[in-house]
Amino acid sequence: MFVTTASSKGSKILHVNWIGIVAAITTFISSLVPWWTMTVAHRWLDSGFRGDLFIYLYRVEFVSLLESVEQTTMNLLYCWIAFAIILSAGSLILIGSMISKKSGKTVIIIAAVLALLSVVIFGAGLSIELSQVPPSPDLPQVGFLSSSSFTFMGMPYFNYSTYPTFGFWMALISAMLALASSIVHPILRKCLLCGNEVVRFSECLGCNLRTCMACAVDNHWKCPKCKCNLVRRK
Ligand SMILES: [Zn+2]
Ligand SMILES: [Zn+2]
Repeated sequence: MFVTTASSKGSKILHVNWIGIVAAITTFISSLVPWWTMTVAHRWLDSGFRGDLFIYLYRVEFVSLLESVEQTTMNLLYCWIAFAIILSAGSLILIGSMISKKSGKTVIIIAAVLALLSVVIFGAGLSIELSQVPPSPDLPQVGFLSSSSFTFMGMPYFNYSTYPTFGFWMALISAMLALASSIVHPILRKCLLCGNEVVRFSECLGCNLRTCMACAVDNHWKCPKCKCNLVRRK
């Protein structure tokens, strides 16, 4: 009895959804790195300037050769919402990966949808934010994914590009990875003969009696209930 309990506990640890664990880790990393960047470069004769604006889910940073400034003038509400959702998604993927049951699989699928939702909220929020910036002669209207260059008197003067970066793509990949992990999510079921919880089992096509592989082998692949030869690996 004691041995049975110990071995079934051991198999539970083995039946963690490892792809899900990896998905949870990449989800957490994605929440920490920049999601969007804008690179601006200005050049005129011998002088020039180049800077990068990084939008994280929890801060905005402007980095140039001369300085690194944290800027907080933007409305970051959508970032905070996306941040809260992606952190919940990571936590749920982690929890779901350790539940070797159908409910664990469901939790992972819900978490993957949440991760996608945070990507959508960030993309939509930032696009709306950018569309509301009044156009100025110094800086043209920029979008979520845009780039342009300007010349002055036939010489390159100013250019910029904007694009979603590491965190955004990592969150998308994490959601896909979580969905993939849900397909191979280990689900432990009780063997109806010996009571052990197993992932791989066999089933009688006649009476649907579900047994573990060990019991199927012990019974020479014959169903002990209806005595038929229809026991198959599931
Ligand atoms: Zn069994
Ligand atoms: Zn049977």
